[in-house]
Amino acid sequence: MRRIDRRRRERLRRRVVNFGFTFALGALVATLLTDRLQRRETSPPIGPLPIATTGDTESSTGAPRAPAVEAAAPSRTEAIGALASHNLLIPVEGVTANKLTDTFDDSRAIGRRHDAIDIMAPRGTQVRAVDDGTIAKLFTSKAGGLTIYQFDPTQSFSYYYAHLDHYATGLAEQQPIRRGQLLGYVGSTGNASESAPHLHFAIARLGTDRAWWKGDPINPYPLLAK
Ligand SMILES: [Zn+2]
Repeated sequence: MRRIDRRRRERLRRRVVNFGFTFALGALVATLLTDRLQRRETSPPIGPLPIATTGDTESSTGAPRAPAVEAAAPSRTEAIGALASHNLLIPVEGVTANKLTDTFDDSRAIGRRHDAIDIMAPRGTQVRAVDDGTIAKLFTSKAGGLTIYQFDPTQSFSYYYAHLDHYATGLAEQQPIRRGQLLGYVGSTGNASESAPHLHFAIARLGTDRAWWKGDPINPYPLLAK
């Protein structure tokens, strides 16, 4: 009887040890995963990424989609309403509202939404600022080519102009910008087709960190085609 008891106790002990070990391993994995996820959220991107990677034949850059902006006042709907009062200018010279098409929800690379509109125009057509504000970043990316990130005067939104052929002379980061000011020229840099120059234009609602490379995408179409 004693032997059996001892064996039983031994088995029980082993079970407890196993359970403890499994639990500890689980906790370790959970900690590592949480740490990784948090780091992904907070660290700046490796080679900053455009808000919505652009273009039409774009290949996936493996870039994570920008995380959505945390809930903050005012609400998203209110913010878009406020943006509508900015009376945004169509950023390509000579293009009228009836020439615009809503390509915001088009899919581009696998699982990736366009999150922008493409405004077709001959190479060299003038690109003008949709709103007052400042140049937040002049950036060259694989997908977007030569790009501009402009912040609006309230620093709540960014305007993204991509595939530019070249910038306006003297354009610089932190430069104050007026609505209608010449920013650059339509082109096909990045992954745009050589034979179809266009402006890829996107709007994002900035997070509280005001990071130029991320934000909550807002469809420019209804704001421009009014
Ligand atoms: Zn595009």
